[in-house]
Amino acid sequence: MVAKPQIVEFLEKYPLYRKLQGSLPEYDIKASDFNDENIKWVAEVTIELPCPVCKKDRTFASLEPTSLRLECNDYDPEYYSDPFVECAVYSISYCCTHCKSYHVDFILLFDYAAKHLQKIGQNPPWSIAVPKDVERFLGDDVAFLKRGKICESQGYGIAAFVYYRRVVENVISSLLNRLENLIPEANRERYSLALRRVQESRKASEKIQVIKDLLPSSLRPDNRNPLGILYDAVSQGLHQESDEECLRSAAQIHTCLTYLIREVSTHEETGREFTDNIQKLLDKTAATKSPAAISSGGDA
Ligand SMILES: [Zn+2]
Repeated sequence: MVAKPQIVEFLEKYPLYRKLQGSLPEYDIKASDFNDENIKWVAEVTIELPCPVCKKDRTFASLEPTSLRLECNDYDPEYYSDPFVECAVYSISYCCTHCKSYHVDFILLFDYAAKHLQKIGQNPPWSIAVPKDVERFLGDDVAFLKRGKICESQGYGIAAFVYYRRVVENVISSLLNRLENLIPEANRERYSLALRRVQESRKASEKIQVIKDLLPSSLRPDNRNPLGILYDAVSQGLHQESDEECLRSAAQIHTCLTYLIREVSTHEETGREFTDNIQKLLDKTAATKSPAAISSGGDA
């Protein structure tokens, strides 16, 4: 059975047409027993999305879904007494629970034959916007990231995977170098040694492999190692993978890469703020001291 956290991830992050595969409460059911249980299951979750009215991430809860279409498999009551539901389409809106004015709308398709769920519409559309700090970090490579997101939004997993992997190859050295500042003092020497060892390597996967287990627990949300996930994703080739399989790997690369870049950027930003604030304090102290210093100098 598809778990609630998967539904949350699906609503928050999946682009149009990416399939969420797995059983839902009402996938093996006859049309006569149909009771909208699947969409009710989806409507129970709350999701976190940016709200432009509140200007921050907020919790969104669903409004009453509307059934748009229900299609039965070859349904002709003259010949079939027990038709199976083939697919059902709903529109569902999620509303910001804080301002209660901003909505995000989805059109969802439940495919009863293939047992999957897809978004077939979304408003506002899936964004290819890149957070400012990630854009700063990536420089010119941000163009590849955006192209990858465009491909991902259309379900072109193979293309998205190739674009994202190119970004990883281009930025991995700089990312691993800057991650060093986030490694606790006790492990930093080991990290530096490993980093020097992989500098010669041209392959992104080799570099990540040497470093990944040195990532501190503070950078492992829910005990999952983003460098390890990145390693698994970039070290597998394209081979025979379908668009669907590549979409999954592409999303993993995108999520882990963005997470690590943001951690590094936040740390550097905080460091800069700290230095700036300290400097301001020192300037202030110097400014308040100097007249006294001048007057005492004049007294002498
Ligand atoms: Zn709001």
